[in-house]
Amino acid sequence: MEQRKQVLSCIQPTGHMHFGNYFGAIKNWVQLQNDYDCIYGVVDYHAMTMPYQAKKLRENTWELIFNLIATGIQPDNLFIQSLVPEHAELSWIFNCFTSYGHLGRMTQFKDKSAQNKDKGDGGFISAGLYTYPVLQAADILIYRADYVPVGKDQEQHLELTRDIAQRFNHQIGKEYFVLPEPLFTEVPKVMSLADPTRKMSKSAGEKHYVNVFAEEARIRKQVRSAVTDTGEATEGMSEGIANLFRLLKASECHEAHDSLVQDYQSGALKYVDLKEAVANGLVALNEQFRSARAELNANKKEVKNQVKASSAEIRKRAQETIKQVKDLAGLLNVRF
Ligand code: AMP
Repeated sequence: MEQRKQVLSCIQPTGHMHFGNYFGAIKNWVQLQNDYDCIYGVVDYHAMTMPYQAKKLRENTWELIFNLIATGIQPDNLFIQSLVPEHAELSWIFNCFTSYGHLGRMTQFKDKSAQNKDKGDGGFISAGLYTYPVLQAADILIYRADYVPVGKDQEQHLELTRDIAQRFNHQIGKEYFVLPEPLFTEVPKVMSLADPTRKMSKSAGEKHYVNVFAEEARIRKQVRSAVTDTGEATEGMSEGIANLFRLLKASECHEAHDSLVQDYQSGALKYVDLKEAVANGLVALNEQFRSARAELNANKKEVKNQVKASSAEIRKRAQETIKQVKDLAGLLNVRF
């Protein structure tokens, strides 16, 4: 049998999972598991690049692990980044294969450092934020990933990863690293229900995101009060309405979607019906995920041990790579 291609993707542990995260990333990850050899990382080293609290970070890491499993990620495919410290080691080596100027052109660094300027802590911007894409390159290359599912915002970072791999290969005179390719999948961009001109996100505040694991009543209330008449989207439909249709489709409520689209086209659409259908779609997913999550909560210790074990298993692959890289780069290896 032909060996399956390797997919690698990572997510930062930052509090609640919302439907933007689910429809825009996690649902795709779940589906990719059918066709690829997938490794998914909860990247806590990355979460340190912006101001954070140590205690909260560990809590968020486990919270995200439980949420990922509840939404359909296989535990064997999961690792926690700080349980594979070779990522940090490879990142240092890669720092020495990365052009300083190239890093300075990363738009995400510019955006995030601008965000920090306005916050407390004297506008502190860490060097970690600057070198974040180098750690990301290490995350990808340490597993020799063939494909990385990326959104448009991450394309530039993947390009840098390929650059680092090429420079390394060139320096050692061997095609050691596979150059990873982006894996583009059509995923919806989910907008805030309270303000459909902006993306659904945690950073904008509680009313701007719908928590995948919220109480049913809260989800229904948030959808009922969704803003419908803000922003111009395609074909004259307001962004608020377009966003509700997008959510309906993403929830796989195809029959309701098509019949409500017909109502919209004939001018007979009642917003209250559209909202009801969206709420039903989200609540159906929410029920499924909450019940999976309750089962996991009843076996917390076992689940944690399982993910520690899968991290240790995945770490073996990282150790193999770092050993070879150190040999190739003229460094010494610790012999255990
Ligand atoms: P974040 O927590 O913002 O780092 O996002 C984690 C993942 O969810 C990334 O792959 C994002 O592209 C995706 N994501 C976050 N917010 C949205 C959104 N509103 N619509 C679609 N995808 C999103």
